[in-house]
Amino acid sequence: MTEQKDRMIINSLVRQALTSAQEVMGDHGLTTVLKTCGLERFVGNFPPNNLEPAIQASQYARFNEAIESFYGRGGKGILRRIGKASFQYGIREQSALLGVAGVALKLLPEKQRIKFILNAVADALKKSNPDVQARLDESGERLAYVESTCAICHSRQSTTPICYLYAGSIGEAVLWATGREFEVTETHCLAKGDEYCRFEIGEARA
Ligand SMILES: [Zn+2]
Repeated sequence: MTEQKDRMIINSLVRQALTSAQEVMGDHGLTTVLKTCGLERFVGNFPPNNLEPAIQASQYARFNEAIESFYGRGGKGILRRIGKASFQYGIREQSALLGVAGVALKLLPEKQRIKFILNAVADALKKSNPDVQARLDESGERLAYVESTCAICHSRQSTTPICYLYAGSIGEAVLWATGREFEVTETHCLAKGDEYCRFEIGEARA
């Protein structure tokens, strides 16, 4: 496995993650988790909405891991829900950064809409930190989203993909763009020793 740079995550992204986690887990759940992963300084004290560095990617990964172990079998579902809430926060609070303010997708075919939003998510993350390497992947039969600098699984190891929060955000992004729920499957994961985390857009559920 290649050693990944432990980049910094900015305040506004940590604020987004904590706000979303609080929505899904409640105050008590979030407080407990923050204390178990060494981030107690954020209890009742979210970072401001600015571009200053907040925490390292490896600490963000610990936070994800702590949520997963706190909820046991339900952890994956909780993380997916936090991911969904996180994309909704982005639409609400950062529509300019996402480049979705005033965009009309209605006239575009569904595939174009999916490509639009996956590019938008990748571009917004790259704007938050120039070290981020994220992109739309059109090389396969299905559209996918790829990040080789994923912070969710940074320095973690697993035999199966573990970036549930990311998959939730991607699914919510595609729902926002198309009005339909699509299966999102993480096919590759840095934690497994792959070169990147890859999220494939599957069949529509309805
Ligand atoms: Zn990952």
